[in-house]
Amino acid sequence: MSAPLLQLEQVSFEYKTAERSFVALRDINLSVSSGEFIAIIGPSGSGKSTLLNLLGLLAHPTSGTQSVFGKTLDILDEIQLAQLRNTSLGFVFQSFALVSRLTVLENILLPTTFLPEQNHSPGFWEAKAIALLGRFGLQDLAARFPNELSGGQKQRVALCRALILDPMMLLADEPTGALDSRSSKEVMSILKELNAEGRTIVVITHDPGVAQQAQRIVSLRDGHISSDESKAGSIGQKPSPQRAQSSTNSIKSEKHAAPSVQRFMGLLRTSVLLARRSLATNRTRSVLTGLGLFMGILSLIVIDGLGEIVENSFNKLFFTSSVRKAYIYYDEDRTGPHGHRNSSWAGLDAEAEFPKLAQMFERKGIVRPFLRSSTCQIKTESGGFRSRLVGVSDLEEFIEMDTPLSVGRLPGRQEFSAQSAVAILGSDTIDQLFAKADPRRRERNFPVGQRVVVDNCDTLATFTVIGVLKKRDTSFGNRDANDVLYVPNQSLLARMGPTVYRWFSVLPHPGVDTKNLATEISNFLSLRSGGRLTFASSVPADILERVRGFLRIVQTIVGFIGLLCLFVGGVGIMNMMLVTVAERTREIGVMKSLGANQGHIRSYILTEASLLCVIAGMVAVVCGLLVNNLFSLCVSLFVPMLKEFRWVFAPVGLIAGLFLSLLCGLGFGSLPASRAAKLDPAECLRSE
Ligand code: ADP
Ligand code: MG
Repeated sequence: MSAPLLQLEQVSFEYKTAERSFVALRDINLSVSSGEFIAIIGPSGSGKSTLLNLLGLLAHPTSGTQSVFGKTLDILDEIQLAQLRNTSLGFVFQSFALVSRLTVLENILLPTTFLPEQNHSPGFWEAKAIALLGRFGLQDLAARFPNELSGGQKQRVALCRALILDPMMLLADEPTGALDSRSSKEVMSILKELNAEGRTIVVITHDPGVAQQAQRIVSLRDGHISSDESKAGSIGQKPSPQRAQSSTNSIKSEKHAAPSVQRFMGLLRTSVLLARRSLATNRTRSVLTGLGLFMGILSLIVIDGLGEIVENSFNKLFFTSSVRKAYIYYDEDRTGPHGHRNSSWAGLDAEAEFPKLAQMFERKGIVRPFLRSSTCQIKTESGGFRSRLVGVSDLEEFIEMDTPLSVGRLPGRQEFSAQSAVAILGSDTIDQLFAKADPRRRERNFPVGQRVVVDNCDTLATFTVIGVLKKRDTSFGNRDANDVLYVPNQSLLARMGPTVYRWFSVLPHPGVDTKNLATEISNFLSLRSGGRLTFASSVPADILERVRGFLRIVQTIVGFIGLLCLFVGGVGIMNMMLVTVAERTREIGVMKSLGANQGHIRSYILTEASLLCVIAGMVAVVCGLLVNNLFSLCVSLFVPMLKEFRWVFAPVGLIAGLFLSLLCGLGFGSLPASRAAKLDPAECLRSE
């Protein structure tokens, strides 16, 4: 004779609450053998459901020993117990306990998603579910939702679900309690049929008529067994040792079921399905809750984008190449370290010494001579004024001025090397050099081709105008930018006498700190003189760096507020998920009875929280992109100097936004998820 499927020896069960404890079962001795059909009867409150929970591995005895398939419960962990419920037991409840968000077919397939190993394709299970529906006359209802069914239909669906994994034993708690007599008869005949096929059945019932159909009747009274009668000769059902064997084996193999990709995907699919349905069912609530997180992510993305726009505009408006330059000069008025006045520096020889200096620092920036004539008289036939010539080293230096020409052209490279006497005029010089009434001013291309005489200076020379710059910004370090004549360095030197440089400009490469570089060069020059000479530097953009630093501080503070916003949104989601868990307590109990372990439940809740967060995050990312580009468009339309529209699209920021929302889902969902996972299945099933 094979070992009993289930055995209780001297088992007691006590409900403990904070105030009191209640012994619901005491000294129960019961064994259930394979193939039996047992009815458990007794008045309400006698402990029937409690006993069924014990038999169904949903609760543990307070004292006594219980064994399943010959193994005591103590050696089985939570996951193994869940797997036994999943593969060896089938539950049917008075209230049907279908998951309302899932269709009939999905409800029936639910237990298959808890299988420790997926040896069959989803198609296999679907075919089996459809066959079961057909067997119970429900073939047309597969796509319906539970609330579209009658009680009898629901209970038959519940039976299909209990049978999908071919359990050895069916446990039914008042399965006919909520049914009319016709449906009740139907269900009972199904149970008898299943028993005839060799399945063990335990039914709790109030109804003596139902109990009479069982072969063995166990009566409970006040928590103990008052009688246990078998109908004579009726335990004739052949136990099926082969099935018992397979279940015992299954416990062994389940212990080390490896997590497989397929299993994970199955779980994920079900999780996403459940989450989607649940979010859709509570649409308003989901939207309102998601709004908080949406605002959080949106504000972060907008802050990031606006920061970029502000920074770019700021750079574009103020950090032009010519503003980024630092100037290094020989500090004549300072007293040297040895007490003598610094008055005797000849400068760097333009040909022999200066190129070495430029080369020395070329990895950090472009060092150029900064060459200006002293103030001199500049004349044409119709006008004149006092101003300076400013030297320009090369074509690039002109281009770095970021100032387009209003007329004419820039000097060609060969005009630099040939020391050509060509000049580019600052915008304000025109009115000084040419009288308003001068008829030439009406000519096209004026004043290109005009001659300008520079007199009473280091030099007396004639330059030909080849272009005029548009008005330049004079805020940083070039107060006279619009009042001077720009000429190639070489042309200036050729007409100015000694070919030495005493002032230098340096344009740092991107990422190199202007101030440090300027100091470095000054120090180098000073060191070169053996410390006798002192050099100073001026960094016009220094103040801008400070403003930029300030902008960064503002951005950081606003970003922090965005993070707070995100946090508040996340707490909202946590709150909603806690409510959801409370609402779904019973459903969680049902899932556990079908074989879900803590991991499954946790994954459902986490998936729902994450899905909500990711959807909110995605909407936020799209809206953020729109807001940023709209802002960028406004800037390009309304700030004259930033005419061109800049498309703001920071993929890193967007991906980070999505990732952050997923992280929020997982983070803020984890408390509700672990609450849900740890719920006691028997207690859940009892809740309304
Ligand atoms: P039955 O199914 O036979 O009606 P139950 O097994 O549901 O009875 O309950 C048995 C006894 O245990 C009842 O007297 C009931 O009041 C008590 N009981 C059930 N659940 C709890 C609980 N969570 N806390 C305290 N007592 C409980
Ligand atoms: Mg009950």
